[in-house]
Amino acid sequence: MAMDRRTFLTAAALPCFAARAAESEARFTKEAKFYEKLPYKKIKCKLCPRECVIDDRERGYCGVRENRGGAYYTLVHSRVCAAHIDPIEKKPFFHFAPGTMAFSVATAGCNVNCKMCQNWDISQSRPEQVDSTYFPPERLAAAARQAGCPSIAYTYSEPVVFVEYVLDAAEAGHAAGVKSAVVTGGYIQEDPLKQLCRRVDAIKVDLKGFSEKFYKEVVNGELKPVLNTLATIRKQGVWNEIVYLVIPGLNDSEQEFQGLARWVKSELGPDVPLHFTRFHPEYLLKNLAPTPLPTLERAKAVSDAEGLHYVYIGNVPGHPAESTYCPKCRRAVVERAGYVIRGMHLDQGKCRFCKQPIPGVWGGTSIL
Ligand code: SF4
Repeated sequence: MAMDRRTFLTAAALPCFAARAAESEARFTKEAKFYEKLPYKKIKCKLCPRECVIDDRERGYCGVRENRGGAYYTLVHSRVCAAHIDPIEKKPFFHFAPGTMAFSVATAGCNVNCKMCQNWDISQSRPEQVDSTYFPPERLAAAARQAGCPSIAYTYSEPVVFVEYVLDAAEAGHAAGVKSAVVTGGYIQEDPLKQLCRRVDAIKVDLKGFSEKFYKEVVNGELKPVLNTLATIRKQGVWNEIVYLVIPGLNDSEQEFQGLARWVKSELGPDVPLHFTRFHPEYLLKNLAPTPLPTLERAKAVSDAEGLHYVYIGNVPGHPAESTYCPKCRRAVVERAGYVIRGMHLDQGKCRFCKQPIPGVWGGTSIL
């Protein structure tokens, strides 16, 4: 049968495209670090508390890990779908390298499905559904350095589901003199978390609510493992901050604020920064209003009264509770306006006015 020119070119080109596509997919595919082999080529993922049991050629809940013939693979190693240079205050980290920029990256995928997700377009996608760039660890570290960023932030989606990449990139970063900061929901098992703690310099946990009911209905996850994560990070001695997004009518009761503040003080101590941030209607919660300012101020007042030292209000640019105050002399030691640092009154991690140590990672000084 005679072929026209177009059919001939398509037929000749297709195997070539297929080979190139397979080759490009292979760059992102690496054997997963945390799983268990089961009979009949099944595997059990041991990365997050879901413990997905997965048949051959199937993927876990997060959509970025696949069973191939009884071995488990991440499909998102070095597969960066978002990269920006952001102020570290945007993550937010307030006691970690203030006033610096973070080279911020994400891959597709997440192990929960929060109804208020701001980045649902990447977090709820499979890797093939979003445009990505191949960004191997050494290149990422070099790009951060070249851009003048003292840290790489793993953020926007959920770094737990691309943990192998985070571990490798953090190592490459350290070799290049660049720190690593993780922004996570903290839904991870203890073993991978400990490995992460050994490699990275700071972890911010989004504590999404303070009841199992909220976690079940709004997050599709569980509270208890996230609290375990916070306790483990503290024990491992990695710098940690907590963000609590206050959603009107869903996680904003006095009881939750008080329970949270008491838990933080008794299990983590009074020095862990706690940020109450304003919710803006997003994704599946577009029907709700933004958080009223008095609710955020109430959350802060309750936590202050419980004895926490560093309680912030976020997403309200210009609010006085964006600044850091010395718990001893009450003077402002880091003055902020939005993401901008207006004044730094610290001397080697100590209050310049009364010499009280302020916990955090300040330039070359760490006080944990
Ligand atoms: S990381 Fe993904 S595959 Fe593994 S248990 Fe969690 S959701 Fe399942």
